[in-house]
Amino acid sequence: MSPIRILPSEIASQIAAGEVVERPASVVKELVENALDASASRIAITVEGAGRQRIEVADNGEGIPEDELALAVERHATSKLASSEGLFQIGTLGFRGEALASIGSVSRFTLTSKAAGAQAGSRIRVEGGHPAEAEMVGAPQGTLVVVQDLFYNVPARLKFLKTDRTERSRIADLVSRYALAYPEVRFTLQQEGRVQLQTGGDGDRRAVLAAIYGTEEARQMLAVDAEYEDIRITGFTSPPGLTRATRREITFFVNGRWVQDHALSAALVQAYHTLLMVGRYPLAAIFLQVPPESVDVNVHPAKSEIRLRDPRRVFADVQRSVRRALLAHAPVPGLEGTNLRWTQNPGGVSAWGSGPTSEAPGHPLPFTQPTRQDVPEQPALDRRGEVPLLRPIGQVAAAYLVAEGPDGLYLVDQHAAHERVLFEKMMAERGAQVASQSLLEPEFVTLSPSQADLLDGQLSALRTLGFQVEDFGPNTYMVRALPALLAGMSPQQALLVLVEDFEEDETPLQAEIEARIIARVCKRAAVRAGQVMSPEEQRALIRDLERCESPRTCPHGRPTMIHLPVDLLERQFGRRGPR
Ligand code: ADP
Ligand code: MG
Repeated sequence: MSPIRILPSEIASQIAAGEVVERPASVVKELVENALDASASRIAITVEGAGRQRIEVADNGEGIPEDELALAVERHATSKLASSEGLFQIGTLGFRGEALASIGSVSRFTLTSKAAGAQAGSRIRVEGGHPAEAEMVGAPQGTLVVVQDLFYNVPARLKFLKTDRTERSRIADLVSRYALAYPEVRFTLQQEGRVQLQTGGDGDRRAVLAAIYGTEEARQMLAVDAEYEDIRITGFTSPPGLTRATRREITFFVNGRWVQDHALSAALVQAYHTLLMVGRYPLAAIFLQVPPESVDVNVHPAKSEIRLRDPRRVFADVQRSVRRALLAHAPVPGLEGTNLRWTQNPGGVSAWGSGPTSEAPGHPLPFTQPTRQDVPEQPALDRRGEVPLLRPIGQVAAAYLVAEGPDGLYLVDQHAAHERVLFEKMMAERGAQVASQSLLEPEFVTLSPSQADLLDGQLSALRTLGFQVEDFGPNTYMVRALPALLAGMSPQQALLVLVEDFEEDETPLQAEIEARIIARVCKRAAVRAGQVMSPEEQRALIRDLERCESPRTCPHGRPTMIHLPVDLLERQFGRRGPR
């Protein structure tokens, strides 16, 4: 081993920078927080090359006096914390005095600022942690930070970044959240030359919500407003019918700081307990005001983790306040605002249908025959040895079909099977004649900036899949037609199908995009577990499945069926010893 040495300061600051600046969005976060700490009323963020090339944050806040400029970019230099007691009374977003120094050590960095009342502005450049002399420049009041070539001197960091699209959507999510938390500040976010988000800065939080989620979803969101002793809880949470497939749209701010705390979101989700379908999560933006001494924010350099002095009480209060908002809105599931509907199936038995695919009473499920007529009719078993001809017996738990085959019992997952059937049909039709349904009038849909970014990546593929969707200005789309499979769904819901379950790292090749879109559409259109199926529908589904190319799995790879061979049954009944 080599002898122990003190690290050169350049390496030490790069290590420290790694904790503060993980990715472009963390740069944006620190710079936005600085602008907020400087009481800015306008913050403009400009991003190029997904933040790798250039990030610019301009504010009209207090600015930095010329003689403090050089200090601002030093490590542990801050105007926000003077004593160690202060650490437990943090009233600003920053306090560690690390952000500017950290960013400056891993980029080409320029800080330009003019303090209120100063004659002129001044500017300092830092490259790879080395500051140059400050110079006088003309500048408006406030501060402008330009970060270029992020991580140019730490190539290892660059490798850890996700795709441009993911990095951009993280930035968009982050700015959206801060815009919601600070509705009195006017935020502008421009990425790759396109304005993604612009808020009014007039204190109207619901208007910010509309800029992010679109007017329809914003209108549905329920207000949360409660006070318990010294805790105040405000914000918005979605009605049970407005959900997402992930927890990602659940946001908490504690004393103006965005915190990522699993326990807090779990408390919120619990408030919905029986109201949500499995795997669905609400959207929420909840703002907690607690006494500063009851929360420790100095847990991690990124300052997005906190420690609460009395977490249990805070969780209980969050739950109470959200529950109250929900109960005030819709005491009984099944009323307007939830997507559970009481549906009557053709056999006259009632069942809980769910989501927009639960059809009106008696409406037949959209079963269809695959179009693979080119395959000569042969006994299925011989053809590919995959699924033999099955005789439907019935349905169990409104979710599984029971069928008999030549070699025992088959349990078919109705949703997975239907997904497979629809998927192969739509794959076969794509390009030529995917059945499409025009809207009576074109409809306009606004998505959140990060959803819009995801949709943009798919627009060209959509045309051949029965969608007619055109880009119509910032995050807004004009929808003229939808695939027939999604008929009955609102255009907003239909577009959400395309973007909302996107995995973080999903970077489909152009060729894969179509298949993925089709899989998403079919997932939404397929019959749900919980839907009672008539004997004819059961027969049709099983027949369609037998004709599929890959009947054994759904498009996502889950099994569509379980086979219980006769000899297994015999062994289980003790008719035959184990082999
Ligand atoms: P911290 O925010 O923890 O104090 P930073 O490194 O982020 O540390 O910033 C260092 C100092 O630079 C701040 O304490 C503040 O005085 C000054 N500063 C940074 N950004 C701004 C800004 N946008 N407007 C005014 N002052 C700023
Ligand atoms: Mg700071």
